[in-house]
Amino acid sequence: MFFIIGTKFITWGSNKTNEMIRCSQCGTLAQFTEKTGMRFITLFFVVPTIPISGKKKMIECPNCKTRFQTE
Ligand SMILES: [Zn+2]
Repeated sequence: MFFIIGTKFITWGSNKTNEMIRCSQCGTLAQFTEKTGMRFITLFFVVPTIPISGKKKMIECPNCKTRFQTE
């Protein structure tokens, strides 16, 4: 049996920030999406199995999808 093992960064969450934030990437002023993400080891690129990083909090620009780490 041959396993293909990789890593995948998975994010979840769709809360909006309370404040308007200006994106330093595209200049948009908007409410960003708050997301939490973790890196997992995956089998066959799809099944997240073992988390290999702590939780990371980030916010995502709704316009250009750039993510900024908040911690
Ligand atoms: Zn942006």
